[in-house]
Amino acid sequence: MFVSVPVQQQKMEAASAEWKLISYRGLKYVSAANVKSFYRFTAIEERGKKLIFKSPNLEMEWEINSKDIYINKVKFVMSFAVIKPTHRAIVSVVDLAKLIDPILRPSYIKHVSSFDTVVIDAGHGDHDSGAVGLLGYEKKYCLDTALRLERALKKRGFKTHMTRRTDKYLSLGQRVREANSVKNAIFISVHFNSSDNRLANGIETYALAPQGTVSTNGGRAGGYRKGNNRDGENIALATAVHAMAMHRMGVEDRGVKRARFNVLTGINKPAILFEGGFVTHSGDAQRINSWEYREKLANTIAEAVSAFRKAVGKKK
Ligand SMILES: [Zn+2]
Repeated sequence: MFVSVPVQQQKMEAASAEWKLISYRGLKYVSAANVKSFYRFTAIEERGKKLIFKSPNLEMEWEINSKDIYINKVKFVMSFAVIKPTHRAIVSVVDLAKLIDPILRPSYIKHVSSFDTVVIDAGHGDHDSGAVGLLGYEKKYCLDTALRLERALKKRGFKTHMTRRTDKYLSLGQRVREANSVKNAIFISVHFNSSDNRLANGIETYALAPQGTVSTNGGRAGGYRKGNNRDGENIALATAVHAMAMHRMGVEDRGVKRARFNVLTGINKPAILFEGGFVTHSGDAQRINSWEYREKLANTIAEAVSAFRKAVGKKK
């Protein structure tokens, strides 16, 4: 089963079940059974180290000692691994509150503000070329995709604000200040990836790491400056965009990840950073170098933004 956009599909009601917190090595957890009854999954299937939560239109897969979870086959990287210290599997309350719940019940996200505008941030520019790809510079692909995204969003009735629309340099601080001056908006930063590993490929989407957790790619746990306290909306937006990209683009799923990039921490609105493929991978580089791929990427993101607005707009 593959449901393209979980946030669009779910109409989950909280069950009467209560959360029973479990303390383990200084962190709070809840059990798999508790998660099952709270979200009214019909069954948990155990296959080796995997736990598969089943319901008619939703499937969630955990793996013991892994941070990776799959919701309707779309990959998410949690802040903490699922563990099984005794007879039962448990998941951290941080991931439950900041990742699983906003994905399963986006309409329950608190203090959601409506938006009619998308701030589009094309990564890099001028002397900051970004990644040097096999067929071109990242900065050029970012700008072209961002301009296509602008058109795709306008077609769908959104207002847009570009942090740059020419090949010019902007510091991260300038991008944040500009984004923060726009009202009723969400923020999407468009980038392409690179790696020393020429085999690395696929799409990944970043949302700000919640306070007190580490980034997916390592680093120390930390807080973040005041400004972004939009964890629920961040992850719901990342989910909408990433799931739609997985459904449409037919590329490797690198997951929804967490980071404390400067452009994400300082932003006062729901924000994501989208990495649309690897300019250092031969297959990805060829796709990224074609306008058809970039046009499809732009339309896919725009469609996901519409889905996100619908999903979080359902007030309870
Ligand atoms: Zn970049």
